[in-house]
Amino acid sequence: MSEEKSAVFIIFGASGDLAHRKLYPALFRLYKSGYLKDHFAVIGTARRPWTDDYFRETIEESLNNEIKNINSNDISEFVKHFFYMSHDVNDAAHYIALKELAASLDDQFETNSNRVYYMAIAPRFFGTVAEHINSEGLKTEGFNRLVIEKPFGRDYASAEELNNDISQAFTEEEIYRIDHYLGKKMVQEIANIREKNTTFEKILNNKYVSNIQVTLAESLGVEERGGYYETSGVLRDMVQNHIMQIIGSLAVDHPEIKKDSEVHELKNELFASLKILTPETVDDNFIRGQYDTDEKGQMKAYRQEDNVDPNSNIDTYAAGKMEFAIDRWENVPFYVRSGKRLVDKSSRIDIVFNDKVTEFGIDANTVVTLYIEPSEGSNIQVNGKDYLEGDQNLIKFPEQADYFDNAREAYESLIIDILSGNKVNFTFWNELQSTWKYIDVIRQKWDSEEPDFPNYLSMTRGPALSDLLLAQDNNKWVW
Ligand code: NAD
Repeated sequence: MSEEKSAVFIIFGASGDLAHRKLYPALFRLYKSGYLKDHFAVIGTARRPWTDDYFRETIEESLNNEIKNINSNDISEFVKHFFYMSHDVNDAAHYIALKELAASLDDQFETNSNRVYYMAIAPRFFGTVAEHINSEGLKTEGFNRLVIEKPFGRDYASAEELNNDISQAFTEEEIYRIDHYLGKKMVQEIANIREKNTTFEKILNNKYVSNIQVTLAESLGVEERGGYYETSGVLRDMVQNHIMQIIGSLAVDHPEIKKDSEVHELKNELFASLKILTPETVDDNFIRGQYDTDEKGQMKAYRQEDNVDPNSNIDTYAAGKMEFAIDRWENVPFYVRSGKRLVDKSSRIDIVFNDKVTEFGIDANTVVTLYIEPSEGSNIQVNGKDYLEGDQNLIKFPEQADYFDNAREAYESLIIDILSGNKVNFTFWNELQSTWKYIDVIRQKWDSEEPDFPNYLSMTRGPALSDLLLAQDNNKWVW
């Protein structure tokens, strides 16, 4: 049974891409499943002077685009909970008007004065909006939860500045920093898989694990997001956040611990133990790449994409070796990589065991693969003579149809967490401090040198340098 939640959502940036493609469909599904029913309202704000009716029409349109076989009566009922207010983030009077509208919707929908402030706007506005929410007295005696999208800063210094800004208005307890990978079903399942499979948990440490590989491969290029990507690159866009958080879910001690503050303490310990590189060791541990056209010369190279500098040195591929100074993982390399325009879309974790696992009756060099997307599930890859020679068979776990049926979209599950006050699947500031400090060294080294770009063809597995990175440790990518 879904337990009904109550709140007034105030979405800043309600006319934007994120709101339309992710938030409204997620809210609709929560409405259909009963988490949201009678006691919620949504105020959308953006610059444009829309009416409530027009706003509702745009929502109807995105729901029809994003959800198959949707019932039009359901949509009509759902959009009655939506209201629009044109808003200039710098104008104090607009926040007073917002406060009054929120209070009246609170009465109308009996939402217990609960508020979710959702930042679906550019990060440069986060601080200003948070400050005004505080100074214009929007916070209520119910819960007041601030939801922040990525990117959370572009380096340690800017992340700290942003954090200081929002912390003047909201406590760490009230801030929900979204990393949507933490909303994905399979990432959330990692702790359960570990807890419920004791043999697996017993061998998940440096005695039995040879290396761990985390891959977030995308087959698309930057598409229409070249302008954003030019300010980011894959190291910031994928490694600092998503890859780190996936490792956090896999590598912390005590998967049986579910209390959010304790989980975050463990994650914080793990990230604080990251062995930070020096400018001298960056090149031995991290490599970068940028996509060229494909083999037939038909696809655009990154430098030919719209809104991209034709001489851009932005990384569209990164691979690296990370290590943690923590007992469980001492001397186990975590190989990570992410890239655009690779041969397949695939998010996966490959855990490669060494030959000591035979103590458990498991073949040497067994690989356990956890698939995050596009499919979800897990495989044990049982090896013949030598996995490095590609002598492998796959044993699939039994189909887990019911288990993964109704798998919620990441946003849906994260919104339930926000409404329930469950912070396990959000990132905390101290974790971000450690991960940014780690990434900054690599970024600074890369910024100080001209790369030899482009260095990989579209629709391949990325630059050859990436294979060499593992070869120097006598290892090999599983995928
Ligand atoms: P967008 O450009 O499509 O939308 C931005 C919204 O902000 C619009 O509603 C616009 O009207 C509003 N806005 C802009 N300037 C304003 C101002 N001065 N006052 C009031 N409102 C103003 O952007 P988006 O893609 O929806 O992204 C929003 C946020 O979500 C960004 O922080 C982005 O990094 C993050 N994000 C987006 C996605 C995605 O899939 N689009 C994914 C992850 C994170």
